[in-house]
Amino acid sequence: MTYQPFLPEAAAGAISPRHVVVPLRRVLDRCRVVIGEATSIDHAKRTATITTLATEEEGTGGQRLTYDELVLAPGSVSRTLPVPGLADHGIGFKTVEEAIGLRNHVIEQMDIASSTRDPAIRDAALTFVFVGGGFAGVEALGELEDMARYAARYYHNVQPEDMKWILVEASDRILPEVGEEMGRYTVTELRRRNIDVRLRTRLDSCADRVAVLSDGARFPTRTVVWTAGVKPHPVLAATDLPRNDRGRLKCTPELTVEGTTHAWAAGDAAAVPDVTADEPGGECAPNAQHALRQAGVLADNIVHTLRGERLTTYTHKYVGSVASLGLHKGVAHVYGRKLKGWPAWFMHRTYHLSRVPTFNRKARVLAEWTLAGLFKREIVSLGSLEHPRAEFELAAGGKPPQDPPHNPKGSS
Ligand SMILES: Cc1cc2nc3c(=O)[nH]c(=O)nc-3n(C[C@H](O)[C@H](O)[C@H](O)COP(=O)(O)OP(=O)(O)OC[C@H]3O[C@@H](n4cnc5c(N)ncnc54)[C@H](O)[C@@H]3O)c2cc1C
Repeated sequence: MTYQPFLPEAAAGAISPRHVVVPLRRVLDRCRVVIGEATSIDHAKRTATITTLATEEEGTGGQRLTYDELVLAPGSVSRTLPVPGLADHGIGFKTVEEAIGLRNHVIEQMDIASSTRDPAIRDAALTFVFVGGGFAGVEALGELEDMARYAARYYHNVQPEDMKWILVEASDRILPEVGEEMGRYTVTELRRRNIDVRLRTRLDSCADRVAVLSDGARFPTRTVVWTAGVKPHPVLAATDLPRNDRGRLKCTPELTVEGTTHAWAAGDAAAVPDVTADEPGGECAPNAQHALRQAGVLADNIVHTLRGERLTTYTHKYVGSVASLGLHKGVAHVYGRKLKGWPAWFMHRTYHLSRVPTFNRKARVLAEWTLAGLFKREIVSLGSLEHPRAEFELAAGGKPPQDPPHNPKGSS
């Protein structure tokens, strides 16, 4: 299980990638854990088809599992648009692989800029474009810019002001999760750091490694990070369960899938009615705040069903959000209280520390933060980990592998 709110800090090097994930086998020690991918579900027959590394090796095309109760919570994937060049050059920010890949990539760009004699290559290497001003985009940009600004002090010929960090957002505000006033503060704060925030602007193309924006601006760049929203996981289309027009599973407030028995859903993939909304018809937003709480109610309701008891209705009023904008910088709007700067950043850390599952992970993350306060920040790129056999292949007389294009989904 990946604790996604920690991905920006993992990208900044403040938390090791291992500590952003929770090992399911250890936590669910009374469950049979199958590491694999559900490719289709036939709920009428209570059967799921699963592919695993073993079934791939055997070439059997998958394994069938039958079940009594189905809990479907595959989350969401990046919502992309048909922007020319995006599939080839875009980088997503939903998985640990993407977060660490992006960190390595940013440091590598600084290395390229520092060693090239070609000003065009240097300029493109030091230009970083982020598309989408929600949680993921703003936090990833804030953390990485902060990390790169710090790293620049170790390069004799790269200054922070040589870098261009650009945030492109189609609407007229960013971070809607923290409210309008705090969203405006975030824009001012990012601009104060020399980050070019462009509201009411879209990315029209990033073909040939040039980001072309709807306001006419063109930026040669090797980094386009796509964080412009999410859509429900495509596996939902390979089920016989009802979905709404946005592709989420139609759910009841008790977290059953509408019109079915023995099927349950929660999290980003589930359209759960928001019973606290002022206007009827609203559904819970795709965020961890709902996903975690829904999981608890869902588990209790399965037990209630087995015991023939009444089901509990999921009800939770959104309490606001906290976001980190780099080391010691943040913004928060929680329970009506608005915080900026260091207090907001501290609240972000304490809140997420209280939420990350397992004592083991809490202790390790806290230890890392404490050590990071005592020592200097890590600025090393481990991009070569992506090709562990490269050196041996070269020694054995083969060709070194070429850099693969960035896979927007990351590896699975
Ligand atoms: C960078 C970032 C920062 C965020 N920050 C915040 C924040 O501060 N606050 C907040 O409330 N929310 C935040 N969110 C959103 C939050 O992380 C998600 O809303 C939440 O993780 C959704 O939980 P979920 O269980 O529905 O899905 P996920 O957490 O995505 O879990 C789904 C799991 O299902 C697995 N899966 C998918 N398909 C299959 C399949 N076919 N077979 C088997 N397994 C499958 C996936 O690998 C994954 O492990 C952030 C998201 C990102 C990307």
